[in-house]
Amino acid sequence: MFIRRLPRFEYHAPVTIPEALKLMARYGRKASVFAGGTDLLVAMKNREKVPEHLINLKGIAALKGIRFDEKKGMTLGALTTLAELERSALVKEKCRPLWDAVTMMASPQVRTLGTVGGNLCGAVPSADTAPPLIVLGASVKLVGPKGKRSVPVESFFTGPKESVLKKNEILTEISIPKPAKWASGAYLKLMRRNALDLALVGVAAYLRFDSNKKVCKEAKVALGAVAPTPIRVFEAEKALMDKEVNESRAAEAGKAASVVCRPISDVRASQEYRCSMVEVLVKRAILEAYKRVIC
Ligand SMILES: Cc1cc2nc3c(=O)[nH]c(=O)nc-3n(C[C@H](O)[C@H](O)[C@H](O)COP(=O)(O)OP(=O)(O)OC[C@H]3O[C@@H](n4cnc5c(N)ncnc54)[C@H](O)[C@@H]3O)c2cc1C
Repeated sequence: MFIRRLPRFEYHAPVTIPEALKLMARYGRKASVFAGGTDLLVAMKNREKVPEHLINLKGIAALKGIRFDEKKGMTLGALTTLAELERSALVKEKCRPLWDAVTMMASPQVRTLGTVGGNLCGAVPSADTAPPLIVLGASVKLVGPKGKRSVPVESFFTGPKESVLKKNEILTEISIPKPAKWASGAYLKLMRRNALDLALVGVAAYLRFDSNKKVCKEAKVALGAVAPTPIRVFEAEKALMDKEVNESRAAEAGKAASVVCRPISDVRASQEYRCSMVEVLVKRAILEAYKRVIC
């Protein structure tokens, strides 16, 4: 078997954000930061990326940790691993669609190394944490030489493997607002096999109801792997707003989503199949989110 070695690189291990930014400024386009390396090292072995300097962010304590504050909500350090999210009772309780997503990602080994920040910064259309973070109203904090800025996850992605993140910026944390009362969500993922596979379609739904848990007062639906970036589908949300949620309304929302999605055909699935599955999974995700609110 032919095993490709990593190309040669110089290794740097900063322990603070300013130190990392200094290294990024010094080496510019010749450098790449990494966290778990589960995307970047594969790309380097395939010679898709050949950075001469690798800046490992994992020694920066300020980028770690899951915190919850009654006023601010949830804060996830960019280096939070997928396994840490999976093990977190707080994430399961307060950010259910995100918890659903990480339990279906990759393998235990990859989840142990891979981070939520790395999943977003890789910016692939099938990134599993993106649709849940969009429906949860999350934003990311980006820090660069000119200071900090906050960007909603919904407007973070600009194209396949492209985002608003500048080459000299680090994603430091993800903020998720405190969950509302009488609200819940779900993430469903279609794969060719039950584990270790990327999404053919990913669907996240979030619903908030009135105090009688009858009328839907807020609906958010986001899709992954069916457009150049993860997308929010307002047309599906309109089908639910200020209405009672039932099978036929959920089906209507599914139909609306299947009309606006723009998947490609590739070796993994055809465009037509992906559109049909969007219709099915949006309906199921909405009904699952509703079930979680009323149970
Ligand atoms: C076998 C296998 C299965 C996989 N399955 C899935 C799956 O089911 N679903 C899925 O969505 N993904 C999957 N992936 C992809 C990958 O594991 C995840 O996207 C993971 O979350 C990436 O995180 P990382 O920390 O390893 O990223 P890295 O490889 O360290 O970095 C990825 C990119 O983001 C940049 N970056 C990382 N952190 C930061 C930061 N804080 N600030 C700025 N830039 C940063 C890096 O420069 C690099 O360009 C899989 C990968 C493998 C190898």
